[in-house]
Amino acid sequence: MTKAEGLATLASEIEKCTRCDLYKSATYAVAGEGAASAKIVFIGEAPGFREDAQGKPFVGSAGKLLDLLFSKVGLRREEVFITNMLKHRPPENRDPFPAEIVACNIWVERQLALLLPKIVVTLGKWSLNYYMPAKKISEVHGKPARVQNVAVLPMYHPAAALRSSNIARELENDFLKNKELLQNPQKADEVDNFFEESGQASLF
Ligand code: URA
Repeated sequence: MTKAEGLATLASEIEKCTRCDLYKSATYAVAGEGAASAKIVFIGEAPGFREDAQGKPFVGSAGKLLDLLFSKVGLRREEVFITNMLKHRPPENRDPFPAEIVACNIWVERQLALLLPKIVVTLGKWSLNYYMPAKKISEVHGKPARVQNVAVLPMYHPAAALRSSNIARELENDFLKNKELLQNPQKADEVDNFFEESGQASLF
């Protein structure tokens, strides 16, 4: 099976997921999308209203900002992979419950195990804490760290940037500061800031 076929099979499993109750109120599962050859994976929080309606990740206003940030560092959506910690939308976009994150982790783990990215960009605290439990985004944003064999680059969530011009500035700076790394994912091997305390990311 090719990577693309593996991802498509996984997406069809995700569409049928009943591991927590969120599927009951959601319109579509949002498995994630992008290149099977992606060296960079972006992980957000959960689908919002538009994502739920379309079954695609980051297609609302936060997604538009993400596209703008991609353009500033010469990335194209088609060459990366974009997914979320939760595959079904929480009602009214409430924060994920810890049990939902635990139930849904298997999907992001299987996506990462297939993609084997060089860089994982975490968008917001939920995906950050998957890799670096208890780290504060205000302290680590924009600073890549090695977690096992992947470079994790924590970023603020674009939705937070839409609510705060300070965060918007920080987020843009973090993208620009890491432009060289994002354009040359093989440089992830040179990231020598190691994060050793990971309790969760263990699959690949
Ligand atoms: N926010 C997220 O975290 N993910 C999306 O797909 C859209 C908005």
